[in-house]
Amino acid sequence: MKIERTPWGWKVLAPAKVNLSLCLKGRREDGYHELETVMLALRFYDELQLELADDSVLELTVSGAENVPNDDRNLVVRALQALRAAMGCSRGARVRLTKRIPSQAGLGGGSSDAAAALVAGNRLWSLGLSPAQLSTIAATLGSDVAFFLPVDPRYGARAAVCTGRGERVAPFPPGRSLPIVVVKPAVGLPTSAVYANYSAANNVQFVPTPAKSAEIAQVLCRGLLNSLGALMRNDLQGPALALCPELAEVKAGFDRLPVVAHQLSGSGSAYFAVCRSLLQAQQVAKLARKRRWGESWAMLSC
Ligand code: ATP
Repeated sequence: MKIERTPWGWKVLAPAKVNLSLCLKGRREDGYHELETVMLALRFYDELQLELADDSVLELTVSGAENVPNDDRNLVVRALQALRAAMGCSRGARVRLTKRIPSQAGLGGGSSDAAAALVAGNRLWSLGLSPAQLSTIAATLGSDVAFFLPVDPRYGARAAVCTGRGERVAPFPPGRSLPIVVVKPAVGLPTSAVYANYSAANNVQFVPTPAKSAEIAQVLCRGLLNSLGALMRNDLQGPALALCPELAEVKAGFDRLPVVAHQLSGSGSAYFAVCRSLLQAQQVAKLARKRRWGESWAMLSC
């Protein structure tokens, strides 16, 4: 996340993420899945601009996407409402959200926007909430929101091992930025549908295989990527591919490319590869467009 003051208020760049691993470890009594995931933030951003309103109005204008709501179904509005409720504040804001991160993609766009709204709202209204307090509010908004908060100013949201529902965040500094290509097929995948498909396939007692989060963090910290492919995994990939045949085609296409590693991000439908260079990522993005796999972007991780 990058935040800067403007003459009118605050501007925030809210990054996307990919999951280098996503391991489900069984269902909890509250219905959520216990998980362990390694998340990596990308230099691929939504933009939020916030300015103070004279009254208590919370007004959101969204551009760059058709199906993103501009009312209190939007996580930006919910984040600002949660901030106000926590502090008994009745000040208002006008927010302009420019979407670049596609929705229903597993790239965490909505969650990142929510985290950006929490950080910027805290400054706009001079509320003085600590990172720990923001983190507590973040967890009420969604499992991935806390990852995007700049809990540790040294790392910001760059990479972290996240556990619980995803809200317990242990950041670590990746040794270098990774070249990444992201492909988003036209069809989106609702998170709930993918989890339902996962549960249907795993409704008998099963023993989860251990996550390799520490090993992935070590590989990233040292910048030695060759063993990454053997460590990466996403337990939601099978259920997502079963729901979305286009994704199986994308995966088969990546199997034939000399990238470092590739897999589904989160619950999809975005699919990504760690590449050997930014040039390779750009070439793969071009190829993906030519083969009509979907929209595609090449970028570095944060
Ligand atoms: P995740 O990676 O967390 O699974 P996602 O890929 O499912 O995220 P989001 O961009 O978070 O996608 O959006 C999921 C749904 O949430 C959308 O269909 C949209 O209606 C709603 N939504 C609420 N707030 C936002 C927002 N700020 N940006 C995008 N979608 C939002």
